Amino acid sequence: MAIPGTESHPLRVAIVGSGPGGFYAAEALLESGLQVEIDLIERLPVPYGLVRFGVAPDHAKLKSVTAVFARIAEDPRLRFFGNVEVGHDLSVQQLGALYHAVVVATGAAGDRRLGIAGEHLPGVHAAGDFVGWYNGRPECADLEFDLDQEVAVVIGQGNVAIDVCRILASPIDALRRTDIAAHALDALARSRVREIHLVGRRGPVQAKFTPKELRELGALPGWQPRVTPDALQLNVASQTELTLPGFVHAARNLDILRGFAQSPADDGRRPLHLHFHRAPVALSGEPRVERIELEAQALSGDAGAQSATPTGERLSLPAGLVLRSVGYRGTPLPGLPFDLVRGALPHRDGRLVDTAGKVLCGWYATGWIKRGPSGVIGTNRADSVDTVATLLADVAALDAVKAGRAGLCALLAAGGQRVVDFTGWKVIERAEIERGRRDGKPAEKFVRIDDMLAAATA
Ligand SMILES: Cc1cc2nc3c(=O)[nH]c(=O)nc-3n(C[C@H](O)[C@H](O)[C@H](O)COP(=O)(O)OP(=O)(O)OC[C@H]3O[C@@H](n4cnc5c(N)ncnc54)[C@H](O)[C@@H]3O)c2cc1C
Repeated sequence: MAIPGTESHPLRVAIVGSGPGGFYAAEALLESGLQVEIDLIERLPVPYGLVRFGVAPDHAKLKSVTAVFARIAEDPRLRFFGNVEVGHDLSVQQLGALYHAVVVATGAAGDRRLGIAGEHLPGVHAAGDFVGWYNGRPECADLEFDLDQEVAVVIGQGNVAIDVCRILASPIDALRRTDIAAHALDALARSRVREIHLVGRRGPVQAKFTPKELRELGALPGWQPRVTPDALQLNVASQTELTLPGFVHAARNLDILRGFAQSPADDGRRPLHLHFHRAPVALSGEPRVERIELEAQALSGDAGAQSATPTGERLSLPAGLVLRSVGYRGTPLPGLPFDLVRGALPHRDGRLVDTAGKVLCGWYATGWIKRGPSGVIGTNRADSVDTVATLLADVAALDAVKAGRAGLCALLAAGGQRVVDFTGWKVIERAEIERGRRDGKPAEKFVRIDDMLAAATA
């Protein structure tokens, strides 16, 4: 049996998902020194995952990583199959039969819920839906957010929660110069939000924000971040945490927050309150959300392992719009095992394993569907390098006779699937840039799949 990876028997790999995890896995395979044939399969007609649909529109610099991804996609050994959803347009079993190895990089776009009374009320949304809406994600294009409300409450202590606050509070003229979706720009231009509360269960040391994002809250014209000095009091374990490696941003975050706490109580700007040690316990209102009930939390336990427990003290706030950003989770792919607790694929060193811990030969994971929703874009690079190292270590045991790309094309053609290749995506991208130029925006994204497909052939 010939080992795949040679001129006559290239290593045929399918990567499912074209976000950072998928692209970095492709890059590692292209640099492996083996002869490879890589098919990058993406459910949408457009690539880049959360770099396109998650990263905030006013953080354009971060999106420049797409130039690196485009160079990877243009390598002749790789082909992009856009508008092909695994689990819908072809099954996991079909895919496994075609390739020596499959790397699943489908991300974690589902949201976690708070699990409290009133969460079903109109006006309560996943922050991810709001992000998808302003970033032009097709599934979110028709969502509606009631921006006639004067008080918005954002629940969460990570950068996504900060992104959401910043977009709600940004001057509309600053957003006009970004690639924010036109429907969101129109709605935000009419927004009546005058007060924002950012609420988190844990303290300023445990919050996951990064200093750059936190500092940006202090630079929003017309808005004043407010935090009470009491909220910044640290117990002994939190003081110790400031020196621990897992809390690299905490000391700088604390400095920024102390700066916020020193500004005059009310200087006439709109308030953006940062609440720490407060957990949401109930939402109420009729027929839509009107109030949120928060319960004070006390931290206890050893440094690095503190947990928050309720103290019984309650605070009720008005809340016309509630956006929860308490974590993302992956979605199972029919036919593959799934870890319901982590919301991710079960794996060992990147190899998928079943519920009994047995390795699924030829199946791998990378990115958020492997580790859960943590880390920045670059974190996925090291993760994908690790997964590909595992895959390469298995090559000798992989079956050499696989149809790969030819088999995939035949299968998709038989099903009448409309595939968008990378040239098609570049045509869409050019059309988006052209649409944006008219309004002085870097791009005006298509938000409907039909429009993307029409643009690809225009
Ligand atoms: C709101 C938000 C803002 C963020 N902002 C930043 C930031 O400013 N800076 C930063 O460094 N990081 C940021 N991140 C983190 C960063 O986006 C992630 O680390 C990264 O996108 C994870 O990459 P991934 O490839 O695992 O998943 P994703 O980027 O989600 O990519 C997964 C891809 O798989 C595709 N897919 C899913 N299911 C299927 C299927 N069945 N068949 C085919 N394709 C499928 C999806 O359409 C998607 O394109 C942000 C994350 C979020 C949620």
